[in-house]
Amino acid sequence: MGIARLLWDIDDTLFDYTTAERLGVLQHLSDEGLLSEFDSPERALSLWQQDMEYAYARFLAGELGFLEHRRERVRLFLGRTGRSLPDTRATDAWFGRYVRCYEDHWRIFPDVLPVLDALRHRYRHGLLSNSSTPHQHRKLKKLGLRRRFSSLVCSDEIGCAKPAAEAFAAGCAGLRLPADQVAYIGDKLTTDALGALGAGLLPVWIDRPATDPEPAPSGVHRIHTLADLPGLLEVIDFGAVPPIG
Ligand SMILES: [Mg+2]
Repeated sequence: MGIARLLWDIDDTLFDYTTAERLGVLQHLSDEGLLSEFDSPERALSLWQQDMEYAYARFLAGELGFLEHRRERVRLFLGRTGRSLPDTRATDAWFGRYVRCYEDHWRIFPDVLPVLDALRHRYRHGLLSNSSTPHQHRKLKKLGLRRRFSSLVCSDEIGCAKPAAEAFAAGCAGLRLPADQVAYIGDKLTTDALGALGAGLLPVWIDRPATDPEPAPSGVHRIHTLADLPGLLEVIDFGAVPPIG
């Protein structure tokens, strides 16, 4: 039995989250007059990401709701400056201004639409994301991608997150297929590829930066552009030699 469905990660796989966040944060901190509070823009960005990762881990662990995790990020980050911390309403407004800057830079990667078009008739497609369902639904609609996927499963609804096998099982349930007939495409080696491998899916690691000189772990299929996905699936399903180029 071959691969019948493709299950996709969203952030930094379909959607260029890293660039949108970087440009959005720098614009927001500049607008708020906060960049001068840090040694450099890179330092400010690094601390923002550090606070985001801490608060997001608490969200994924179920310790904070999505809105609360945003408030925690503001509290942590502004706590690094000499400024007084705003009340809840002002905190939400502050984060809302960041979100507007961030959304101004929302883009999908240029190889996404061509590969979805190429694979549209051969596979049905679903989504599995460590995030909030309303947040990802809104993002996908704004990016014009939502209708291309038959299912959207997010960690906030299922109560577990990748790399847990239960999260991948929920993503496969959304596609109504057993794990061994589903390929998972994601950008993170441990969270996505090794998690999918452990859960019995076929893991495809989209390694866009291509900075890791080590071979991909056994069982993990690494590509550097989604343009290589159709050829890889041909080989896996039919043992065909992919076209060169
Ligand atoms: Mg990702």
